[in-house]
Amino acid sequence: MSLSQKIFEAGVVGAGGAGFPTHVKANSKVEFVLANGAECEPLIHKDYELMLHFPKEIVKGFELLIESTSAKKGFFGIKEKNEKAISAISKKLNGKTELTRLGDFYPSGDEFELVYEATGRLIPPAGIPLDVGCVVNNVETSYNIALAESNIPVTQKFICVAGSVKKPSSFFVPVGTSFKDVIDFAGGTKVKEFGVFIGGVMMGHLTFDLNDVVTKTTAGIIILPIDHYLIKRKNQPEENWHRIGKSACDQCSYCTEFCPRYLLGYQVEPHKVMRSLGFTKTGAAFWNQMAELCCSCGLCTLYACPEDLYPKEACDKAKIEMREAGMKFIQQKPVKVHPIKEGRRVPLKQLIMKLKLQDYDVEAPFNSKSISVSKVNIPLQQHVGKPAEAAVKKGEIVEEGQMIGKIKNNELGANIHASIGGKVKDVTEKFIKIES
Ligand code: SF4
Ligand code: SF4
Repeated sequence: MSLSQKIFEAGVVGAGGAGFPTHVKANSKVEFVLANGAECEPLIHKDYELMLHFPKEIVKGFELLIESTSAKKGFFGIKEKNEKAISAISKKLNGKTELTRLGDFYPSGDEFELVYEATGRLIPPAGIPLDVGCVVNNVETSYNIALAESNIPVTQKFICVAGSVKKPSSFFVPVGTSFKDVIDFAGGTKVKEFGVFIGGVMMGHLTFDLNDVVTKTTAGIIILPIDHYLIKRKNQPEENWHRIGKSACDQCSYCTEFCPRYLLGYQVEPHKVMRSLGFTKTGAAFWNQMAELCCSCGLCTLYACPEDLYPKEACDKAKIEMREAGMKFIQQKPVKVHPIKEGRRVPLKQLIMKLKLQDYDVEAPFNSKSISVSKVNIPLQQHVGKPAEAAVKKGEIVEEGQMIGKIKNNELGANIHASIGGKVKDVTEKFIKIES
């Protein structure tokens, strides 16, 4: 069986982003393969811990991908500050791979940034790394590729639990574990009332539902007190974002001046998206093509805007509205890096201060103990593409690692496996519930 087929069978998807099925990447032919160990979301340290403790597996998966794509070279991106991880990984790399030492900036883990830093190439507007002969994988995805090669499917997710918890830490949990079980394993919260950021405070989402579950793409779980600045900002009703923006934006354009995509040379100008709010009656139903190439990094809303407005959210809404209206913006000029780009990078420490997270900026060491979980609720859609179709029925007994959700061979998607052994308690269109 080819590596790509093994990856497909094992249900490997991008562990650090939207969950793009990895077998598609393994099946392509490229010049360069890049490992993304940048990890730039504040407080999340799971990739760092994984690189420290599992360098052999990560490098094995990375090199397997270099081989399967016939790439002539690999680049391994790690932040310069993470000396221990650099040392652990470097010892395992062969001569075909160059280490790309990254500065401690946000968002240095963005694929467009990483490809440019490592290769000097600029991905075309609205393009993907493949367009410039590159494939990029998060380091945990590389780890999962190594397991897939030995026919071990993805049943565990490596996550970081941080913020207002008693034991900030990084550990493996079965896919489908509830946030409640995960938080308990990290010693419980330090506060009674709190909100939970899933995937990070910059690009993740806020939830108050502890029955939500860990998926193959959950990177971090950040707990913050209910009265924290970030909870208050994210918890504003959506209609307020645009209504307040309509009246309070003074068009200073800081949001654009700090936008990492704008600085790389893409036509993203959030201040113009905010300007278009002024032409609507209520701040609803607007669109602006300057949102199209935004990557939703959140810097404009959470760092740049002196008025605490919501340009990122305006861009998100404009993108949706334009898509619904069947409009697509095509960049009109060549992509050219802004001469001031280096001077406008946002140091992570500065971002953490701005977000009022400095009290939570601590290590999250690897906890090798196994979490004990008696029930999981496994989503059938944890990836880009079609949801998997349930391959088991209510009442069946399944073993850990058994395929329970299947993708038909020619469709884009990823297979799903039982993360614990036990009885199938329920099967819906969206979830398979298993209890041991
Ligand atoms: S979220 Fe804001 S800063 Fe980030 S890419 Fe979009 S417009 Fe630029
Ligand atoms: S930074 Fe804030 S106030 Fe300035 S243009 Fe952007 S949204 Fe408006």
